[in-house]
Amino acid sequence: MPTIQEELDRRQMLYSLLMPVMNLYVPGLDKGKGLYFLFVKSETRTPGGLLARPVLTSYYKSEHFKTRPYDPYNVYTSPNEAILCADSFQSMYTQMLCGIYERKQVLRLGAVFASGLLRAIRFLQLNWHQLTHDIRTGTLSPKITDPSVRNCVADVLKPDPELADLVAGECSKDSWEGIITRIWPNTKYLDVIVTGAMAQYIPTLDYYSGGLPLACTMYASSECYFGLNLNPMSKPSEVSYTIMPNMAYFEFLPHEHSSIPLSRDSPPRLVDLAHVEVGKEYELVITTYAGLYRYRVGDILRVTGFHNSAPQFHFVRRKNVLLSIDSDKTDEAELQKAVDNASKLLREVNTSVVEYTSFADTKTIPGHYVIYWELLVKDSANSPSDELLGQCCLAMEESLNSVYRQGRVADNSIGPLEIRVVKSGTFEELMDYAISRGASINQYKVPRCVNFTPIMELLDSRVVSSHFSPALPHWTPERRR
Ligand code: AMP
Repeated sequence: MPTIQEELDRRQMLYSLLMPVMNLYVPGLDKGKGLYFLFVKSETRTPGGLLARPVLTSYYKSEHFKTRPYDPYNVYTSPNEAILCADSFQSMYTQMLCGIYERKQVLRLGAVFASGLLRAIRFLQLNWHQLTHDIRTGTLSPKITDPSVRNCVADVLKPDPELADLVAGECSKDSWEGIITRIWPNTKYLDVIVTGAMAQYIPTLDYYSGGLPLACTMYASSECYFGLNLNPMSKPSEVSYTIMPNMAYFEFLPHEHSSIPLSRDSPPRLVDLAHVEVGKEYELVITTYAGLYRYRVGDILRVTGFHNSAPQFHFVRRKNVLLSIDSDKTDEAELQKAVDNASKLLREVNTSVVEYTSFADTKTIPGHYVIYWELLVKDSANSPSDELLGQCCLAMEESLNSVYRQGRVADNSIGPLEIRVVKSGTFEELMDYAISRGASINQYKVPRCVNFTPIMELLDSRVVSSHFSPALPHWTPERRR
């Protein structure tokens, strides 16, 4: 995505509006701090030599963020050095450590997306022994090697056996229900995006937080920041975002016409921001200062009302995204290609994939992709082994896009891909079920992604074996495919 320097000013303006809005609903946020798990990712260069990096990385590395003036409403427990440390373990460890030291001051806890906050909880599960050791002794784990991070932690670190006992006591209990408020007792809300694909994480967040309110504050993308939620304490299912007209030029493609290509021959009926109608669904089209021209973001939005004259939108869904665990987005074509590549490995045992579907399993942390396969084993004396199906999992991962592989390799935000082999005839049963619920036989299509409970139950009850990717796929910051 192209971007330009002045875009940082616009992003910062949007950020600067979030706390004034929040103050209308939650008083006293200037009396404490926010524990936000924020991360930078690695950078690369385009073939033409331009710097390429994720939008948030560019924001955290900018002077706008690094030298932000003191604002009592926006004090983070995480030192800049920890946020800016590119090693995700060291960064998370330090942010967690500092957040624990200031546990009583923490009034809000957050990450950009829900998956990031859950990753932090999982990190605590895996590392609380070392963290409490450091707190008890006032020393820093030798795993933290970045000198600037070690330096900044030195200001915070002091032996505090009482705090270490308290945290260790909570973490060693069997149940982690409500762990967030047990460790950070003054948290008033969680600041994470749980609209759209991230809604799948709401039950898990409720479990760990004992049902704290979830605030979805803004709506943004790599292409452009769009707007904010003027009623941030509303229930996630009722959240609407108000698009800020100064962020870009916004147009809307009525969703029923969205299959019509944007061409001169069949001009689509684009509606501008001032003329959208309440209750209708649109696909978002943007023209940005950085040079995107009538670019289809891929988001479907529904107009819910107006703030003065500015329309407000409910995020309905992302077009063409089947699977998403973290910032990865896998569409139907990518999944198809991955299945094609993996199923080539089955040729040696004379087996083919008859049907498949998928599911983003977020019950584990990190979540992972599950692909259901119905196989046609032509030679029953030579059916595919667990090892071969494991290799198929890895072949699928190798075929998925670099954001997926980065999540697997560098960020550990996505777990190993799983193939669940189902009994033959399962997909026919799936079709029977859909038809019994009113689907047309003529127009029935195998869903390439499922999340409806009865269908999941049907599939899972037919699983004959399950197989996981045995290794990490290839990924390097330089490899841009
Ligand atoms: P990326 O460019 O990878 O950061 O992804 C941007 C996309 O994430 C948007 O186009 C949306 O599909 C999704 N997204 C961003 N913010 C929200 C939000 N508040 N609610 C739902 N989806 C969102």
